[in-house]
Amino acid sequence: MGHGWHLGSLFLLFFITACGGSGHLGWKSIPVPIYADSTIMKSNQAMSDLQDAFRYWEQKAGKSIFDFKGEWTRGAPYAGNPASPDAILGNVIFFQNPWPYSKKFVGMTTVQNGEDGPQAAMVMINGASSFCNGDCHFDSRVSSRKTFAHELGHFIGLNHNDDPKDIMYPDATPGGSISELKADEATLRVLVSGN
Ligand SMILES: [Zn+2]
Repeated sequence: MGHGWHLGSLFLLFFITACGGSGHLGWKSIPVPIYADSTIMKSNQAMSDLQDAFRYWEQKAGKSIFDFKGEWTRGAPYAGNPASPDAILGNVIFFQNPWPYSKKFVGMTTVQNGEDGPQAAMVMINGASSFCNGDCHFDSRVSSRKTFAHELGHFIGLNHNDDPKDIMYPDATPGGSISELKADEATLRVLVSGN
């Protein structure tokens, strides 16, 4: 109903390393602690979008998934190269600049898997991209709210799918409210069952 449909973001992709294959099998302990960087913490709009993204998934799952710990203050949340880290030091969503991937990617979630599931995951947001806040109707930039939600879907363990009305569609969603975007709730519930 009344979607704003803009062409600009059609060519911008979300992409993550974890969704190239089978994703991951879900965190063993739910809710999962997660931090944000100072760029997000200092922006009321970015914080609002992040909280909306948390709520998007938690409403669909019917349970708390994210244990938000506030600001990550321990430097870079990875060791080595951000594009292929030697280790991920904390579950952090953060703006990365310079961006180590193609400019067409606005986000990248990298998961460090252990023997029985993910041990840590970092959500990198392209610090050189131009984002708008909220749903971004009639705005050619990419919605940070929907970008956060999409990347957090990978953080949870969801893969991409080919339904443009799904939050895990790989292209940045053009227009429309986040509340109108669906998700694979059956898979989501399995992923957040904690076992
Ligand atoms: Zn993705």
